[in-house]
Amino acid sequence: MDYSQIRQNFEKHGFTTQFFSTKEEASRYLSDALQNQTIGFGGSETLKEMGLFEELQQTNVVVWHNKIPGMQVRKLANCADIYITSANAVTETGEIVNIDGTGNRVAMTAFGPNMCYYIVGKNKIRTNLTDAYERCKNVAAPLNAKRLGFKTPCAVKGDKCYDCNSPERICRIVSIIERVPLGMKCEIIFVNEELGY
Ligand code: SF4
Repeated sequence: MDYSQIRQNFEKHGFTTQFFSTKEEASRYLSDALQNQTIGFGGSETLKEMGLFEELQQTNVVVWHNKIPGMQVRKLANCADIYITSANAVTETGEIVNIDGTGNRVAMTAFGPNMCYYIVGKNKIRTNLTDAYERCKNVAAPLNAKRLGFKTPCAVKGDKCYDCNSPERICRIVSIIERVPLGMKCEIIFVNEELGY
């Protein structure tokens, strides 16, 4: 993987980028950078695997619906100055693709915080937007639906998207961030490990 070229492509699109070999290094970078802040987290297995909530809450106020479930907590997280999330997929050409059920992550990555950090494991990187969307639908969404205990066909059969019309369908809003949204700063933190779905 040519991280140098990928980073350049994101930087041309207005993002700052970082690269770390391990999740521990990435976690240390963020805990050094963020003190006395209000931070919202998007739903993310990546953040869970990093233990980032436990790390950052020592010196910040961190709001995460993975810890206290519910819409009110999501709304509170969406008032934070700093937002941290992962992505369902990113492209080598410098775009980010996410699919949400409730839309809280899609909303915050488009408008709201002063600063948005994306933590991206190597398993999330795809060549182009077509492949990135395919990853979201056929890899990330089925695994997330299964994790949530939903009975969508992708979760039950465990192989791919069936473009279902289930009431539990988690694919309801798709976002492609092509450039950093006006009025926001965004940083992509690449980690050279498999992280999350
Ligand atoms: S549309 Fe339905 S079947 Fe397809 S990934 Fe989303 S929840 Fe699963």
